[in-house]
Amino acid sequence: MKIDVVTIFPDYLAALDLSLIGKARQRGLIELAVHDLRGWTSDKHRTVDDTPAGGGAGMVMRPDVWGQALDEVLTDDAVLLVPTPAGEVFDQRLAEDLARENHLVFACGRYEGIDARVAQSYGQRVRVVEFSIGDYVLNGGEVAALVAIEAIGRLAPGVVGNPESLVEESHGAAGLLEYPVYTRPVSWRGEDIPEVLLSGDHAKIRQWRRAQALLRTAQRRPDMLIERDEPLSMADRLTL
Ligand code: SAM
Repeated sequence: MKIDVVTIFPDYLAALDLSLIGKARQRGLIELAVHDLRGWTSDKHRTVDDTPAGGGAGMVMRPDVWGQALDEVLTDDAVLLVPTPAGEVFDQRLAEDLARENHLVFACGRYEGIDARVAQSYGQRVRVVEFSIGDYVLNGGEVAALVAIEAIGRLAPGVVGNPESLVEESHGAAGLLEYPVYTRPVSWRGEDIPEVLLSGDHAKIRQWRRAQALLRTAQRRPDMLIERDEPLSMADRLTL
């Protein structure tokens, strides 16, 4: 998988040298490059923004500078990803969908965002996804790009050591939140690990985990049970 990030703050993306994504880059599983948008400016102040057409507060990122950058970075098989609070919500389903793509290019906005003609114009050439990581406003698209790269990158083959750990996760194929997890010590501050997890009875453990996942989802995210693609089985319904 190839990922390019275009930003006016390349240092923000330094975290991508760390942990699983950093290791995946070292092992050549993810090819990632971060580009400074100001490298495509042509004036001595390296200007990337201008006042909003129609007036109003703040500044807007210029389409001509973005055009220079994206003409160079975007390949014909790339997906252009534009973080914006006005975008579609970035969720596990979108992460899985994007993990199947060969080349992702993130265009990180700042100020009041990027001139709308950029997404519109590149939409005629490649797939463009304007995405939001939640209903709040950040100062820039870099953190949103980090979130998306982490969620997408860990789905690339070989990035997570044990692929089984991806199977039962929250928001995975089961459409549930994950059950609670425990490790040693068996007793800690008066609280014990549930006995069934120490029983060695794998069928019972599976049953307990399914019940916990269902109850947790019902308590914390009832919307996930309502919006399921597949209806719950009778056994699951009796658990609830
Ligand atoms: N004026 C814009 C609006 O109200 O929709 C907000 C601009 S915000 C201050 C600057 C940049 O931060 C955006 O262009 C986008 O790249 C990023 N951003 C802010 N909130 C975001 C969110 N929830 N999801 C993804 N990107 C976000």
